[in-house]
Amino acid sequence: MSTLMHEKIQILLEEDCCHECEGYGEDRICVHIESMAELPTRFGDFHIVAFSNNRDDKEHVAIIKGDVIGAEDVPVRLHSECLTGDALGSLRCDCRDQLEAALKKIGEMERGMVLYLRQEGRGIGLTNKVRAYALQDQGLDTVEANLALGFRDDERDYAVAAHMIHSLKVKSIQLMTNNPKKIAQLEQHGVKINRRLPHILPTNEHNLFYLQTKAEKSGHMIDFHGKEHLPEQSDPAIVEGMTADQIKAMFEG
Ligand SMILES: [Zn+2]
Ligand SMILES: [Zn+2]
Repeated sequence: MSTLMHEKIQILLEEDCCHECEGYGEDRICVHIESMAELPTRFGDFHIVAFSNNRDDKEHVAIIKGDVIGAEDVPVRLHSECLTGDALGSLRCDCRDQLEAALKKIGEMERGMVLYLRQEGRGIGLTNKVRAYALQDQGLDTVEANLALGFRDDERDYAVAAHMIHSLKVKSIQLMTNNPKKIAQLEQHGVKINRRLPHILPTNEHNLFYLQTKAEKSGHMIDFHGKEHLPEQSDPAIVEGMTADQIKAMFEG
């Protein structure tokens, strides 16, 4: 970490605390950079930047590799918080695999960042997510469980993320996503996206069932515990070795 980066961060902190804007998206959300620190991790040396916002008490963070301030072409991954997956290693979703793969990839790059968005269960919160899991345990089908999980449009997520990217003065990005639709949605909020980087997960014992699942299941992935996987990251997981048909089925599912 260069002295220059530390100076830039200090300037950004001072400037950003007082910024006023009309807000992003329908909710007119505005975020402020509150604090920054070094964050050495098992995936590499990062900085962590904490944001507050004008809508709720959720503390979104950016996990930054290298010097991204004022940079072009910065690789960016958006990740929605998932306590059960990220922290506890739940196999009901792919959140932890997706987060680890992103941190590992970006950790090896010169620069890049993961925006960690605090929208557990896609915004419905942990309790409701657990309720939806319980309904699935009782045999609800995917559609019903999806509804219970509160699947909704992701506009607000992108608005927060877009503001965070602008707050960090990132000029243009390469978005790490398997979902081409996400690009247009982020662009609506004024983010310049030069490229899509496919987010491909390495195989492990926990995601092998993806490779074994037939395309005709339309992306309904049942793991080896008989539990259905829900796409909590709004970004279908692609695992190394999946066929083109399997990938296609996930987007249609
Ligand atoms: Zn603002
Ligand atoms: Zn999850």
